[in-house]
Amino acid sequence: MDVSVVGGGIVGLMSAYFLSEEADVTLYDPDPGSYSVHAAGLIEPYRFDKINTTSMLAKMVKYMRRGVTEVRQVNKLWLRELLLSLNKEPPPDAWNIMREMAEFSLKFYKEMASERNDFGYREDGLLELYTSKEQLEQGAKEERSSPFRPKHEIVDVPGFAGGIFFPELSRIETEKFVRRILHELEFRKVRIIKKRASLDLQKGKVDGKESDVIVVSNGIWMNQIFPMPLTAFKGYGYWIQGESKIDKAFVTVDEGVAVSPLSDHVKVTGGFSADFSDNWRGDFVLEKVSNFVKINKIIEKSMGFRPCSPDGFPILGRKGKIVIATGACRLGWSYGPAMGLHSTELALGKAKNHPYLSRLVERYITIPS
Ligand SMILES: Cc1cc2nc3c(=O)[nH]c(=O)nc-3n(C[C@H](O)[C@H](O)[C@H](O)COP(=O)(O)OP(=O)(O)OC[C@H]3O[C@@H](n4cnc5c(N)ncnc54)[C@H](O)[C@@H]3O)c2cc1C
Repeated sequence: MDVSVVGGGIVGLMSAYFLSEEADVTLYDPDPGSYSVHAAGLIEPYRFDKINTTSMLAKMVKYMRRGVTEVRQVNKLWLRELLLSLNKEPPPDAWNIMREMAEFSLKFYKEMASERNDFGYREDGLLELYTSKEQLEQGAKEERSSPFRPKHEIVDVPGFAGGIFFPELSRIETEKFVRRILHELEFRKVRIIKKRASLDLQKGKVDGKESDVIVVSNGIWMNQIFPMPLTAFKGYGYWIQGESKIDKAFVTVDEGVAVSPLSDHVKVTGGFSADFSDNWRGDFVLEKVSNFVKINKIIEKSMGFRPCSPDGFPILGRKGKIVIATGACRLGWSYGPAMGLHSTELALGKAKNHPYLSRLVERYITIPS
């Protein structure tokens, strides 16, 4: 079987990885991984937030007041779907598949690291930091009722009202993981074509080449091919030479900034703006961590987009010979391996569309006959 994968962010790379076990794979991306590496690399699938809730909208308004979020461009289909589904609960089987996908992804990174830990894999948990007791109690209450039932404990943190520590979560160094997967793809004879591909839906061809199946995993650029309820929340990543005052990975709940202290640098990420543009507006991120991170030098910086579905659940489904894999929003790395596996099973005909995860594919993807 011949499969083309359009888009080589973390989701497309993982799709190509699993597909290459059974298919001839061609992956198209001008610079694979370049729009995914900015991420903090926290493998935190249990910190999933449903987006289509009034409490998430209230959180966004709070972020706007703190200068973390700006609303510049919003996909109208996304907004419409979000409002139509506001505060609606997904069916129980949606949570079941998310739990399975979370477990699979956590296990996948662990197994890759046990073969060879060349991507800074660590299993030292994640700390969520709160500045008010009230919010900490609310956060703890939400964790107790979370469908994921994550292990967590309330801890004291000097200078904060407290923290919630998740001991089971892991983290990685994103750019090293991309390098590792690109090596694996090379070894498995995946053809990597470094260009932006064009899709001829009528003929089912990618850049003039016919394939049995086409996996479309090009993140927010999906909207250039299929008008979908998918919007972008842009953010920024910094590789810092310096020191973090907290030796664990942490996220500040008030501002959504993440810090991951690594062997030879500190990764700092932040920003959650509704914005599809490539403009850099990330300078505020380092200000937000100036109390926790001593910055000697900025080694590198980059930006990327969280491709968000209206509720934050991945959009995964097949229509004709097109498989769509996107939408995991702020948890693309955390669900990437499981999304890659699921899109592979759909492409190879080994799995059927999951009713909830594929519903937007069924509704929005029209293939010309
Ligand atoms: C600041 C920040 C921090 C984050 N931290 C974390 C974290 O700690 N943990 C976590 O789980 N997630 C995190 N995320 C979320 C995660 O980074 C995203 O969910 C993830 O990058 C999305 O991956 P993707 O493969 O779907 O899309 P992308 O990474 O956007 O990749 C899409 C790719 O498709 C390519 N492309 C587009 N059009 C075409 C075309 N026509 N032909 C070929 N190629 C094409 C693009 O060049 C790009 O490389 C973070 C996000 C941000 C913004």
